[in-house]
Amino acid sequence: MADVEGSCHCGAIKVRVIGGFGEKAKAGVCHCKQCQVLAGSLFSYLGFVKRENVKVLQGEPKGYKQPLSAAQSGKPITRYFCGDCGTPLWAAADSAPDTYSIKLAMFGNNLPPAMEIYWKYAQTWEKPMVPSEALFDRWYET
Ligand SMILES: [Zn+2]
Ligand SMILES: [Zn+2]
Repeated sequence: MADVEGSCHCGAIKVRVIGGFGEKAKAGVCHCKQCQVLAGSLFSYLGFVKRENVKVLQGEPKGYKQPLSAAQSGKPITRYFCGDCGTPLWAAADSAPDTYSIKLAMFGNNLPPAMEIYWKYAQTWEKPMVPSEALFDRWYET
């Protein structure tokens, strides 16, 4: 697959995902309270990429280490964003040391969601985007 590139809203940060997301790539949607606040919205909508495939072409993302008590996994998570315009970029969770969960708006928001997690925190008037078997009240576990 071809590389994909994206940037934050102000253009200070430019990022390349080597090899793109893959043809069958799907997104994850997280409704947890942390994601709501950090996305400034109802949920976060994320792709999953190998850390080694993410290249920062320009700028220096800022990292916010969220308090341990706020992590659903109980392990540290650092959330990266543009220090100039505040666009959220990706999260690095110690529970998934090889992967970034990366915000998809930078790349066109074009991956269909495969699952939604922490659905219990969604508003009663929200409608799921996935079939009920892909809707989880907690972290997705196989
Ligand atoms: Zn920016
Ligand atoms: Zn979340």
